[in-house]
Amino acid sequence: MRPVKRMSFALAALCVVGLAWVAAGTTSDRNAPQSLPHPSTKTYTIPAPILTTPSGDAPRPLSMPVAGIDPSTIHDTFDEMRGGDTRRHDALDILAPRGTNVVATDDGTVKKLFTSVPGGLTVYEFDPDQRYCYYYAHLDAYAAGLHEGQILHRGDLIGYVGTTGNAPKDTPHLHFAVIRLDPDRRWWTGTAIDPYPLLYKRR
Ligand SMILES: [Zn+2]
Repeated sequence: MRPVKRMSFALAALCVVGLAWVAAGTTSDRNAPQSLPHPSTKTYTIPAPILTTPSGDAPRPLSMPVAGIDPSTIHDTFDEMRGGDTRRHDALDILAPRGTNVVATDDGTVKKLFTSVPGGLTVYEFDPDQRYCYYYAHLDAYAAGLHEGQILHRGDLIGYVGTTGNAPKDTPHLHFAVIRLDPDRRWWTGTAIDPYPLLYKRR
């Protein structure tokens, strides 16, 4: 064995011994009752677990999905009742002239292009982690070439403000929703969360 090789062998052996020592120390600390404070009359309170949001669980900050709209001018219509007070709106209505550009609020993927009776022409975009779905409805038209599976970057054109679906014909707007997806990540279901605080922070 050459000296260099012998030395690295010795170092590796030392590492193994060191690791074993650390592992043994950790184990004995965890299990050693003698390391607890001794007086048995004193009571100890087990600290409550600190509740933190699991990393990456918060929705990502969003960009205004309608071009040229100042976020401070929109109203939070998430909790308004609709359909004759039968359901919560669960979305924001962002008013803009017909044909105004609708742009991706975040990076993501076009999950579904769908036409429905209430939503009209719609886009379902999944965020890069596939935990949230961004829903854009009442579009007048899709951006040319928009297709399912397309990678989107924040600000990419996806369509135009309109009144398709059940939107009043004289009130073009984007109906915009953010949905926390269920673990099975189906585009048509999940829990709506209020997009307003993600778009605009009150000062
Ligand atoms: Zn709406």
